Amino acid sequence: MKLNENFAALGGSYLFGKIAARVRQFAAENPDADVVSLGIGDVTRPLTPAVVCAMHAAVAEMAYEETFRGYGPERGYDFLRRRIAEYYAGRGVSVSPSEIFVGDGAKSDIGNFLDLFGKSRVLMPDPVYPAYFDVNVMSGNKVAFAGGNRRNGFRPLPPSRGDYDIIYICSPNNPTGAVYTKDELKRWVDYARATGAVIFFDAAYECYVRDASLPRSIFEVEGARQCAVEFCSLSKTAGFTGLRCGYTVVPEELAGGRIAEMWERRQATKFNGVSYVVQRAAEAVFTPQGLAENAKNNDYYLRNARAMHGMLESAGVWHTGGENSPYIWMQCPRGITSWEYFDLLLERANVVGTPGAGFGKNGEGYFRLTAFGNDEKTVRAMERLCEVTRAAMRK
Ligand code: PLP
Repeated sequence: MKLNENFAALGGSYLFGKIAARVRQFAAENPDADVVSLGIGDVTRPLTPAVVCAMHAAVAEMAYEETFRGYGPERGYDFLRRRIAEYYAGRGVSVSPSEIFVGDGAKSDIGNFLDLFGKSRVLMPDPVYPAYFDVNVMSGNKVAFAGGNRRNGFRPLPPSRGDYDIIYICSPNNPTGAVYTKDELKRWVDYARATGAVIFFDAAYECYVRDASLPRSIFEVEGARQCAVEFCSLSKTAGFTGLRCGYTVVPEELAGGRIAEMWERRQATKFNGVSYVVQRAAEAVFTPQGLAENAKNNDYYLRNARAMHGMLESAGVWHTGGENSPYIWMQCPRGITSWEYFDLLLERANVVGTPGAGFGKNGEGYFRLTAFGNDEKTVRAMERLCEVTRAAMRK
């Protein structure tokens, strides 16, 4: 056998395993401690009534010969792709249903999309959502980083030098919560067009953008249809992390239609579509009732995020995110590494977060908090976190 030796270059996927092990040990040694996690990157609100009713109805259809469905279209059912196109139109973005490909989530599509490209020079932000890096290592691609830092608000702009084939952008960003402005995205689009690169735009968190001046889709930017693909997910939009559904928008203009054609061919060969029941559930997300119900759930997370943002502000802690995003990226007290801060918080505040070093070199000295938890527990945990952090900052 001939193994893919690129896997040897992958780092271990230690981060969340290592966190879980430390938390387990602490809880065993301190059984009375009220440990609260602000580290989870998963939603906690259940599916909404519109979604659940649509699934029940679809399950019932599958029980009768007349309405049973077998294999569906590889691109996804028309009823869902039309709804998604309407969702874009509601935000003033024109996307045709024929440019929408339904898949089982953004993570798989982002990884699988590399099948369409040869060995590539890839640019991605640091800190970064680890899956971008890992899929490129598996493919043997050469990866360079656009450094996010406090100076650029963790919104790195195009480099003055260097030529890349693929550029990853995630906005609102995981892990930093930073959101690019339209002008900033325009600079990336201009750069990609000038250098012939394709942008992989990850819009998994678009539904958290409430400031109307901030873009939720790269296709709000002029010229993006010529150079970008957009990956979206119902995971954080509608609680589909366990159900699995997402969609990828491939504009007809991109490489003269070649990319859309190749993606269709790739999916038809290696993917047999998302289940009918799940696509009916996804359709319900984009109905007026579904949109209203899910906006309520997302408002719940955003209230948590705003409360966290306000408390860190009062404590004088530098951070990004917490507005238009469910993530908060805070600076650790001076002289403390992100893992030391993790231990300090666990031991003194009984709060769990994610050390920034787990997201790349530039993540060292920073810490990620998420707003996906219960509201009362979140505020209680933040009070303790701010107290411990203020004390550490005075040292
Ligand atoms: N992209 C980013 C930036 C994410 O944070 C996540 C999930 O945490 C995903 C994509 C994956 O989304 P999905 O659940 O649709 O695969």
